[in-house]
Amino acid sequence: MERIDGKALAAKVKAQVAAEVEALRGQGVVPKLTVILVGEDPASQVYVGGKAKDCAQCGIDSEVLRLPDSTTEAQLLAEIAVRNSDPTVSGLLVQLPLPRHINEKKVIEAISPEKDVDGFTPVNVGRLVIGEDCFLPCTPAGCIELLKATGEPLEGKRAVVLGRSNIVGKPMALLLLRENATVTVCHSRTRDLPSVVREADILVAAIGKKRFVTPDMVKEGALVVDVGINRGEDGKLYGDVDEPGLADKAGRITPVPGGVGLMTRAMLMVNTLKAAKRQHGLD
Ligand code: NDP
Repeated sequence: MERIDGKALAAKVKAQVAAEVEALRGQGVVPKLTVILVGEDPASQVYVGGKAKDCAQCGIDSEVLRLPDSTTEAQLLAEIAVRNSDPTVSGLLVQLPLPRHINEKKVIEAISPEKDVDGFTPVNVGRLVIGEDCFLPCTPAGCIELLKATGEPLEGKRAVVLGRSNIVGKPMALLLLRENATVTVCHSRTRDLPSVVREADILVAAIGKKRFVTPDMVKEGALVVDVGINRGEDGKLYGDVDEPGLADKAGRITPVPGGVGLMTRAMLMVNTLKAAKRQHGLD
């Protein structure tokens, strides 16, 4: 299978954002992303660092509010309220997961839908379902861009999404439907999953199981998007798809690393720019 170059596409998207941000700054509008991080989760620290670096590359101001693990839910909600009403903050996100004593649902719902650059609030999810303009969740939005970049029409194709989480599987299915694909969603209760997956012209794997999708499950010529990030015992990152096993098949696949992860990051920059433009009546 041919590889779809997520690195090149992410660089292109970020360069486009940077050019637009520069023009906006010329008009006195300074986009800014605020990230709230609660606790010391090492993976979250890395993700938040990546977001600040992406912002710097795109000319977007960024601020990381680091709160201790002991922060109460009420304190976190109060910090969110301050940023919701701060006109200098264009995009606001709370890095997940949160410590167990904080209700994630309540926190997400407290973020202003107009600053919800993760696209996780019920308002944005609802807008996505009914086809209104909204902030798209970054991972599925990045997957669609990777698929579109292949130049293959998505319309009328059979698409199978593996996984039904709120942040990846479900919105991915909706976005593919919007592109006029015929969409099936598989999950842990799906019967005879391999036979469903074998029908896919477009396969998006997002279940979080190392090399779960084996070559016998993949149709010749398929477009495969591998969302999975799984750390192997050797310390290396593996996708949900056995990419080396697909070497002799026709089709295209996003690599792990170097695929969806980079596009997820780029789409956050797209959303932050969009938020800034909207808040200034420029979108
Ligand atoms: P979740 O754990 O929230 O969801 C996993 C989904 O996979 C569930 O719907 C579950 O089904 C399904 N599933 C699990 N095991 C099986 C199985 N054996 N057969 C069929 N279905 C199964 O994961 P996320 O959606 O958050 O993430 C999925 C993967 O994508 C992870 O590896 C994660 O690290 C990665 N990820 C990567 C991102 C990126 O930027 N590249 C961003 C976000 C996630 P059920 O609902 O029935 O339990």
